[in-house]
Amino acid sequence: MTVPRLGAMTMSITREAILTILPSLSNKGKTRAARRARKPTQDNWIKAPRGKWLKCSYAKCGFEWQYFGGHHWAECPACHCVTKVAVARRIIKSR
Ligand SMILES: [Zn+2]
Repeated sequence: MTVPRLGAMTMSITREAILTILPSLSNKGKTRAARRARKPTQDNWIKAPRGKWLKCSYAKCGFEWQYFGGHHWAECPACHCVTKVAVARRIIKSR
């Protein structure tokens, strides 16, 4: 069978085909800065923490505070009862 010849032919084709499909493989001699030229530089600003305004779900309390934690449950700083963040946010939005 002509399997070895076919294999050799495909090897010569694929070398150029890969470089046309994936030009990133050909920029071997370039510096890192040149390779990354199209990627925008990331701004190294520290993002300000986005607090969530919560209202205590306990009816007698109703304290409003800004929650900066990423948990689902938050403790009210006034009455120390634990309220669910999703529920406490819904109370704020419903007004
Ligand atoms: Zn409370």
